[in-house]
Amino acid sequence: MISLQGAGWGGGSLVYANVFARPAASTLDDRWPDELRREELDPYFDLAGTMLDVTPVKADPTTGDVPARTVVFEDLTEQMGIRPATTRPNLAVRFDSSEAWTYNQHGVSQRGCTFTGECVLGCNRSAKNSLDHNYLAVAERNGATAVIGSEVKRIDWDGSRWTVWAAEGPDPGEPLVRRTATRVFLAAGAVSTTELLLRSRDVDKTLPNLSPALGHGFSGNGDYLALSNLRHSAPDLTTGPTITTTTVLDVWERSRPVWLQVQDGAVPQAVSMMLNRLLPFRTVRAAWRRFRPRGPKQTFAFLSMGHDAGSGRLELDGSGEARLRWVNRWQSRLYRAEGRVGPAVARIIRAPVRAVATWSLFRLPVTVHPLGGVPTSSDPAKGVVGPDRQVHGYPGLYVMDGSVIPASTGANPSATIMASTERAIEGIIRETTGDRSWRAPEWASVSKLPIPEDAAYNWMLQRRQGTAGDGVTIDETMHERGSDASSTGELRVRLEIPSLDRFRDDPEHRLSVAGTLTISGFSGPYRVTGQLRMFPEGANELMRYDLEFTDPAGQDWTAVGSKRQQGLGPLARYRGLTKIDLTIRRADGSEAEFRRTFVLHPWDVVRNGASIRGSGFTFHRRRRAFQVFSRFFLSAVLRPRPKRRPQRRR
Ligand SMILES: Cc1cc2nc3c(=O)[nH]c(=O)nc-3n(C[C@H](O)[C@H](O)[C@H](O)COP(=O)(O)OP(=O)(O)OC[C@H]3O[C@@H](n4cnc5c(N)ncnc54)[C@H](O)[C@@H]3O)c2cc1C
Ligand code: SF4
Repeated sequence: MISLQGAGWGGGSLVYANVFARPAASTLDDRWPDELRREELDPYFDLAGTMLDVTPVKADPTTGDVPARTVVFEDLTEQMGIRPATTRPNLAVRFDSSEAWTYNQHGVSQRGCTFTGECVLGCNRSAKNSLDHNYLAVAERNGATAVIGSEVKRIDWDGSRWTVWAAEGPDPGEPLVRRTATRVFLAAGAVSTTELLLRSRDVDKTLPNLSPALGHGFSGNGDYLALSNLRHSAPDLTTGPTITTTTVLDVWERSRPVWLQVQDGAVPQAVSMMLNRLLPFRTVRAAWRRFRPRGPKQTFAFLSMGHDAGSGRLELDGSGEARLRWVNRWQSRLYRAEGRVGPAVARIIRAPVRAVATWSLFRLPVTVHPLGGVPTSSDPAKGVVGPDRQVHGYPGLYVMDGSVIPASTGANPSATIMASTERAIEGIIRETTGDRSWRAPEWASVSKLPIPEDAAYNWMLQRRQGTAGDGVTIDETMHERGSDASSTGELRVRLEIPSLDRFRDDPEHRLSVAGTLTISGFSGPYRVTGQLRMFPEGANELMRYDLEFTDPAGQDWTAVGSKRQQGLGPLARYRGLTKIDLTIRRADGSEAEFRRTFVLHPWDVVRNGASIRGSGFTFHRRRRAFQVFSRFFLSAVLRPRPKRRPQRRR
């Protein structure tokens, strides 16, 4: 894998594409501890976003409109019928139409963005809110000293003090510069921090007790880069900040949906030349130049990211530099899904969209979002650092960068790195000062920031549940016992399971109910909605209905009842499943309740069984959903129910 990262006073932020995005909570797996989940981190995202002064793309002062690329992407997803999945993410860019230099909230002078689309080269106008314009400026104003052009080579620990050895100056033969400290915070990025620690453990042997977990859990954040060379020059798709939109996708791949995000990317001329040079051999480069369409007018990028397995392992090569063990096969579903986006888009824009040459030719992925390598766990055998980010066995040594992120974020990760670092540093300051209520002074100006990506995440989640999730629907009709032609009491409802996976995982096996209820002696039918628990685990009842309806006078009612086992054996189970006693009462409990019994006649059983339908995109998936539900239902019917405990006499 090729990993790109920024080097300088500001790290990756100097050359990043400014996107400040939070991960989709519903896609984070159990590798994410509570303290790194959205509920806990959201306030710290707000803090970091306020520090960076983030906002979605604004109008280009020269045109009075958002960049053409933004509109092209939004139109694309409109044509694909997924427009709500596209959003304009928060960007750490200063949008200000004036030419004048003005001070930002941290007292650093900046100018407004001129939409040159060169953010990934570093912004020559100082319009990018890179870290040197905010966090690092605040640190320097408060006494921090920056040393640039300094490469840390070694870290020593004598049991009470830390010594950091760095190469400085142009001559590689110069002796290393030595600095000592009582605390050291490593923030060299996922690859370099892991490399430094591996060297300290295995080559210099200065930190021999570092955890065996070091180097594990590396992720490329599922990055996948595709490019399109457009043969026309209008509209100009290279203007505007590098990224202006994010589209959330849920691509069906080998019987499971794959979740990913795609962003539009302006590619400066110099970067397309650099990507070309990534090809290692001169002859291959020459072949690639022949293969490329001649004289492309503009290059346009599709930057995808998602959840890879995060199973990479960083180790050292013979010269003590980081080398990655990575198996593409383990992320094949993700890469295939990402690879499908290009052809789908190409059909609409009528221009080829190709993966970068390193992937097409060598299956070498490129990541701009390296993560992991320094696992976190309270157990030193499983983690290099503890939840407080302190290295196990080495007091005063902390890690504060992408290397401690437990898995792919599936979104641009710098916001997660910042928010989690804000939280961790707050904990460390509280711990060391003994002031349990310490908070960063900047909290005073923090307010809740808009999170544009959440709307897209939620829309796609609902879409998956509503359409892509394999589910089933069943039409159920029951008749009121004793009702005759003059009093046709009837419960006629549709039972819906939007996602069988969630239904089976839920111990109560809940599904939604909607339909009509007619009660003898009442007017009606009434529209009922509610919930049915089907074979809830550990309960005596077979099914429980919780329904509600409103009568024409506006009075709310509830109708609650259970189907229970009526004795032992399959016949008793059948009898139990075909009868329900509904207790009907006013929702405010103001009047006495009354009961009605509803039964399934044998022909109702047949009709209800025949109404079971699988829901899914394809016939294959609908059939599979039907089979999965039928298996669940039959095994629940045939499984012996737990015997009721006899009531003890007092
Ligand atoms: C082209 C590009 C576009 C990107 N776009 C986005 C985006 O839009 N949104 C987003 O969220 N993320 C983006 N990223 C990723 C983002 O930049 C990184 O996730 C983030 O910067 C990682 O932060 P970090 O603290 O882990 O390390 P880094 O930001 O990489 O910082 C590491 C620092 O340590 C220094 N360093 C490394 N080794 C040593 C050493 N031995 N001695 C001394 N110093 C050392 C480096 O010079 C650097 O300053 C992009 C990255 C690239 C390359
Ligand atoms: S678009 Fe140009 S001016 Fe605006 S932030 Fe990016 S590089 Fe700077």
